[in-house]
Amino acid sequence: MLLKGKTAVISGGAGARGIGFATAKTFAAQGARVAILDLDAAGAAKAAAELGPEHVGIGCDVTDKADCARAIGEVLAATGRIDILINNAGITQAIKVWDIDPESWARIQDVNLKGVLYLSQAVMPHMRERKAGAIACMSSVSAQRGGGILGGAHYSAAKAGVLGLAKAMARELGADGIRVNCVTPGLIQTDINAGKISDDARVKILENIPLNRLGVPQDVANIFLFLASDLSAYVTGAVIDVNGGMLI
Ligand code: NAD
Repeated sequence: MLLKGKTAVISGGAGARGIGFATAKTFAAQGARVAILDLDAAGAAKAAAELGPEHVGIGCDVTDKADCARAIGEVLAATGRIDILINNAGITQAIKVWDIDPESWARIQDVNLKGVLYLSQAVMPHMRERKAGAIACMSSVSAQRGGGILGGAHYSAAKAGVLGLAKAMARELGADGIRVNCVTPGLIQTDINAGKISDDARVKILENIPLNRLGVPQDVANIFLFLASDLSAYVTGAVIDVNGGMLI
């Protein structure tokens, strides 16, 4: 039991086939009490209920600073402590760079990047007071290779921003005993890309993946488990690729 007695907040965990819910299930199986936050409040409540009565699901829009503070306050009222934050919520949009308009730019930055700041800020007073905490943030291979297979340049920019934000937070929060790390997944089969990869595209993608398969949510959940647990007690500001070797 790697997370026995710990409470973990996971954003974007409502989707049954998503990385967030796979992470929630993995953490619960390792003894954690889990709070799932998602824009889809009903989905978050349903996902938490599926894990068991001690887990909570709460509606939260990570783009809204006050809403993040409210949701974290509700988690603390229900659980009394937060040891782990997984900033997983995100959206993508397949669009060419010349077609990005101010609204789509803002929306993609707000959810993927600003949401990481706001939710992290919401847990900081509690973690700083307790001098302990593990925060892990969702970036993407799109940040590293420029342009995703299914995401636009605005998504790459937002996910690259997450790397800088997480490293800066790791530097500033280290003295308070708080670790901050990132994962950079390759193509993981979830609702975000379901039905969007043609057979031809799939063959081309696999040519560039030495492990010769697309990722599954559990591949990422396992790395979040490592980063959330004391196994990574001396790891902060790190970026872990979960991409089957796509960047070798
Ligand atoms: P998903 O669509 O199942 O999960 C995203 C979740 O975020 C959804 O439950 C959605 O309701 C929630 N969400 C969206 N906007 C929100 C908001 N404003 N506030 C709170 N919650 C919000 O897809 P997924 O593939 O599991 O994605 C999880 C994360 O992984 C995302 O950040 C995504 O960008 C990232 N990622 C995915 C892949 C992939 O190939 N699937 C690769 C790299 C990174």
